[in-house]
Amino acid sequence: MSSLILKDHPLLGKTVVALRNFRNGEEIMEFSGPQVKEEEIPALQKPEDDRYLQIGRDLYLGASGGFDDFFNHSCCPNAGLVEKDGRFFLTAIEEIPAGEEILWDYSTYMDERDWEMDCLCGEKICRGVIRDFCFLPEALRNKYLHLGIVPKFIADQYR
Ligand SMILES: [Zn+2]
Repeated sequence: MSSLILKDHPLLGKTVVALRNFRNGEEIMEFSGPQVKEEEIPALQKPEDDRYLQIGRDLYLGASGGFDDFFNHSCCPNAGLVEKDGRFFLTAIEEIPAGEEILWDYSTYMDERDWEMDCLCGEKICRGVIRDFCFLPEALRNKYLHLGIVPKFIADQYR
C-alpha cells in the first residue's frame, strides 16, 4: 500500500502528498532512474521540465516514471535526499503529517554554474530563484550539510 499520493498543483502541475505521518528521519522513498552523463541529456525547452537530478560532477539520474519524478522544491523543505552508498533516499527532516506536501530543496543537489529557475514555493523565506548549493547563505549550507542531505560530490567541497 502506498504511503504517497500524486495530486494536482495549481502552479506546478503535480505534487506529492503524504498519505500517512512520517517521523523525522524516516525514509520516504528511494529515488531511481537511469544514470546518464551530462552530454546525454536532451536539450529541454523549459527548466520546469527538467527531471534530471545531479548526482555527480557529470552524472545525472533521469526520470523513473514513479513518484520520485514529482516531488517539488521548497526553500523551506520538510524532506531531503540522503546519499547512501551511491543510492538516494528521500528522508523526512521533520515530522510530516498525513495530508502534507513533501518538498525538498533542489539546491542541495545543484552544482552546475549554468542553470537556475524561478522559485514558486511561496514560502516567506523564499530565495526567489533556485540555483547552485554554493550560492546558499552559509548558515543554510551548514544546516543542510549537518542534516546529511547534500550529496557527496558537493559535501566533499566543504570538508
Ligand atoms: Zn522558494
